[in-house]
Amino acid sequence: MPGLRHALRGVGLALLLALPAAALAWLADVGAEGGTDDAVRVQVSAAGAVDGRLPFRSTGEGAITARVAFTLPEGEGDRWVLWLSRDALDEVRAWAPGWAPPAQHFHAAPDDAFPAGYAFPLPAEWRGAHVVQLSLAGGVRAAPRPRIISDRTMLRIVARDRAIASAIYAAMLTLAIAALALYAAVRDRAFLWFALYACTGLLLAAAMNGHLVAVLPRSLLAAAGAGGFWATMLVFAGVGVRTVLRYAVAGESEALGAWRLLPWAYVAAAVVALLAPHAWAAWIGWLANLGWIAAVSASFVLVYAAARRGVSMAVAMLLLLGLVGFAGGAHELMQSGRLPDNAWTRYGYQCALVLFSVVLYVGLCSRVGAVRQRLDDEAQARRASEQRLRREQVRGDLASQLQAALRDTDDGAVASTAFGLLADAAQRLLGCGSAAVLVEAYLGDPGLRLHGTDPASAVGRSAMAERGGIREAALAGTPVVLRLGDGARGGDGAGADHVVVPLAARAGGWGALVVRLPLQCVPDQAELAALDGIARLVVLHAQEAHAAAQLRRTAELDSLTCTLNRHSLDRVAADAFAARQGTASPLSVLFIDLDWFKPINDTHGHACGDHCLRAVAQALCGQLRPGDVVGRYGGEEFLVLLPGSDAAAARVLAERLRRTIEGLGIEWEGRRIRVTASFGLAGMREQDTGLASLLSRADKALYQAKREGRNCVRAASAYAE
Ligand code: GH3
Ligand code: MG
Ligand code: MG
Repeated sequence: MPGLRHALRGVGLALLLALPAAALAWLADVGAEGGTDDAVRVQVSAAGAVDGRLPFRSTGEGAITARVAFTLPEGEGDRWVLWLSRDALDEVRAWAPGWAPPAQHFHAAPDDAFPAGYAFPLPAEWRGAHVVQLSLAGGVRAAPRPRIISDRTMLRIVARDRAIASAIYAAMLTLAIAALALYAAVRDRAFLWFALYACTGLLLAAAMNGHLVAVLPRSLLAAAGAGGFWATMLVFAGVGVRTVLRYAVAGESEALGAWRLLPWAYVAAAVVALLAPHAWAAWIGWLANLGWIAAVSASFVLVYAAARRGVSMAVAMLLLLGLVGFAGGAHELMQSGRLPDNAWTRYGYQCALVLFSVVLYVGLCSRVGAVRQRLDDEAQARRASEQRLRREQVRGDLASQLQAALRDTDDGAVASTAFGLLADAAQRLLGCGSAAVLVEAYLGDPGLRLHGTDPASAVGRSAMAERGGIREAALAGTPVVLRLGDGARGGDGAGADHVVVPLAARAGGWGALVVRLPLQCVPDQAELAALDGIARLVVLHAQEAHAAAQLRRTAELDSLTCTLNRHSLDRVAADAFAARQGTASPLSVLFIDLDWFKPINDTHGHACGDHCLRAVAQALCGQLRPGDVVGRYGGEEFLVLLPGSDAAAARVLAERLRRTIEGLGIEWEGRRIRVTASFGLAGMREQDTGLASLLSRADKALYQAKREGRNCVRAASAYAE
């Protein structure tokens, strides 16, 4: 039965706290007064005196005068003191014929920090019977009992009262500081209320014990008077109820309802108590006592409800609230003279409050777990939203990078550009790891290619070494985390985790983004989905760029020979010429015209002519170096641009081309067609101001070749026009 266990734990804690405290208080009391009656019997005679006590029935009563008769023992020994406990009296005066010590006041600045009572040391020579007149003025409800005690007993009482009072103050102060520390840690306002509660509790205890003189200016205390005391008590009651409310509703502030207003009623009553005229003092005292009883009752109801809900420490608090009520009653009876004035009745009440406060604090601490949980949840939500923002940012950046980088990209560079950007973005998105893209038969390229990393890098090596497994994962179609060996010779062979994100591919091809993960980097589902998203984005852009590049290429090519058409040939030639103008880098051009082509057409038909043109173009392309450009200049004429080749190199190449064409042996309808070509060669000169003059020299050289028998190479003479 968890409910019973809970209750037993609460009872256990209450006993654990209350019993040692009670034992200490008992020891202190026995130590102070020896557990016996006073050595000197005192007879008090005054109007209303009961059993040696001078009761102030209500606040604001006028002065009481009394006659105190006693008989001091004969002989040397103890010094004797007329002693009254430290009740709130405006003025205490004592006198006898020939003896008039100074009057004492509750708010008078005392010599010590924690004054314990009103002490009038009797003249050392007094022995035998004496009578002292006493006058007590302006008491808050109290029943002082004049006693004659030895100065040793007095010192023991003073020490006891100081010890108990300082323990109470230290406990309340410690609780306040501990609550502030917890507030700083978890930002739960319940702890702030508790700190305020502990501080006002400390203030009230100090006010009850008459110790505020140690810290507050006497004039302020005197001005506030009894009203100030009642106001402190009301504020403490209000703050206490507020704190208990916070504890009892366990943070659900909407459950507070009308209870929320109760503490403010106490604050309003405290203001009234402070500002009310002196004549109302008796009424204010009653009001404050009623308010106090209401606060304890309200707390009892709240804590009882909390105990039924199983709130931590509620049962112990119920018991201690009962103890507070009991000790409060005892204090009240002591003040009205119906119970003896000792450590139990004087301080039991404050001690019970301290115990209650300790348990309330422990109860509030159980909220720390809930608050921590809430803070953790909030932090996690904040992290999640930051990560989402980062993913969106990476995706947005990638989209604009793709747009900028893939515009007008050469078809051959589309895959490396797009997949390089994908690998970078994947690394940024995860914030860890290294990425590569592995594709095969992708975007018109039939080979297996690794993009976005150096093949010697760890991810490059593992991607290539484990391409079979990656291919399988890529064809499965969903992102996965795989353990792949790193393919490194001499490695530990354990491999590492890799994210494999498939790239959408046409039939026959496949592709995957591969991210090698360091040990502490484990992507969650959201990150895998985000990787999948950017992979799709990149594939979409790459496919579009590939298609656009193909379209552009078609527009640039001659449909019959698949070499550059005249339009793009003019542009490329002009660019090459402009790039070399004013530099020492050579540029040569070759005009090629097929010999006796018209007769081939006429004899075998145009289809045969076309077939020959294609065969010659293919042969030319096969012989050129990267960077050389060939295009169909018109009809059966080709132009070859040779950037970086001087006249001598160009002549060697031209001769090779001529022999290649001559040796082609084109097959057409079972016959072998012999095709030859004439070559006109020219090199760019410093004084060339435009492309036209270079081409014109090559053209002239071609005519020369035609004139000189065809199937030969002729170069423009270096200086001739
Ligand atoms: P040569 O250059 O050696 O002086 O003699 P040729 O017969 O080649 O003379 P010319 O250059 O004047 O003739 C060009 C011929 O090329 C005319 C045309 O029939 C043929 N020709 C031009 N364009 C095409 C084409 O696209 N297809 C075919 N089949 N023939 C073409
Ligand atoms: Mg010709
Ligand atoms: Mg021609």
